[in-house]
Amino acid sequence: MPAKLISGTEIAKMIREELKQETERLKEKTGIVPGLVTILVGENPASVSYVTAKQKTSKELGFHSIQDSQPADIKEADLLKLIDKYNHDPSIHGILVQLPLPKHINETKVLYAIDPKKDVDGFHPVNVGKLMIGEADYLPCTPAGIQQLLIRTGVKTDGAEVVVVGRSNIVGKPIANILLQKQKGANATVTICHTGTKDMAFHTRRAEILIVAAGKPNAVTADMVKEGAVVIDVGVNRIGMTPEGKAKLCGDVDFEAVREKAAAITPVPGGVGPMTITMLMMNTVKAAKLAAGFQG
Ligand code: NAP
Repeated sequence: MPAKLISGTEIAKMIREELKQETERLKEKTGIVPGLVTILVGENPASVSYVTAKQKTSKELGFHSIQDSQPADIKEADLLKLIDKYNHDPSIHGILVQLPLPKHINETKVLYAIDPKKDVDGFHPVNVGKLMIGEADYLPCTPAGIQQLLIRTGVKTDGAEVVVVGRSNIVGKPIANILLQKQKGANATVTICHTGTKDMAFHTRRAEILIVAAGKPNAVTADMVKEGAVVIDVGVNRIGMTPEGKAKLCGDVDFEAVREKAAAITPVPGGVGPMTITMLMMNTVKAAKLAAGFQG
């Protein structure tokens, strides 16, 4: 029987509805409106479309949202000043700088300049460190979305064998860290594979939950998957254009073949993707509540 599809689109919709209601309640009870600024440098088309989607969602949820577009030749010092301005703006609870930045700007320096309390992307080293010791305020958005997909589809992580393919700082390492914490929705035994792994299939075949974030189509084929596994495909690969002129996408997993073997699988598109922006919104609501002295 083909695997059950885990719909990120549906789950994201459900969480957004919850966040909308939470935002209304917060506003009614305290007058606080979650505030999010998205800073875009230049006009990279992919970045423009990501930022537009983030702005659209934050407005739908009733946030105070600002789109701050800066020219591609902005000086690094001026960008740092801008971040400092938002760090001190009490109406802004979350600051998102859309990556990548132009080459003349040091990305690390910019990300480190964001007040960790407003770092709703979860990339500041303070937040990375807090995640490591199980004290996270903000989980990075894509890994947080993966954890929510597992929780909300009733996949048991407690004691599960989890294998993560990929060790990037934005997906592989943080999702491995999240799932190994001695916490609800985690407590798994986690293995991380990468290009230095000698026999990747040996590891992936043991996985009850297989999370693939390699950025390569067909990095995982059916022979590498355990019968009955839950497969989360994070990859987004552009493999051409549809007749309507839209980008044709695929994940990192050989979807059709793996679907025949797995118990559940995320599609691409419509799996992890829709969860990422939703988690940004969740972090912004949390930031607003923390700023007001509430416990998350
Ligand atoms: P990345 O920074 O390129 O990292 C890829 C990782 O996969 C690296 O650790 C690399 O190993 C490993 N890898 C690559 N090919 C491999 C192979 N054949 N076998 C084993 N390991 C392999 O990518 P990323 O930023 O984590 O993103 C991964 C994918 O997820 C991309 O397709 C990206 O577009 C997608 N993504 C989706 C979302 C979303 O919201 N849906 C968000 C973020 C990323 P080494 O470290 O040894 O090089």
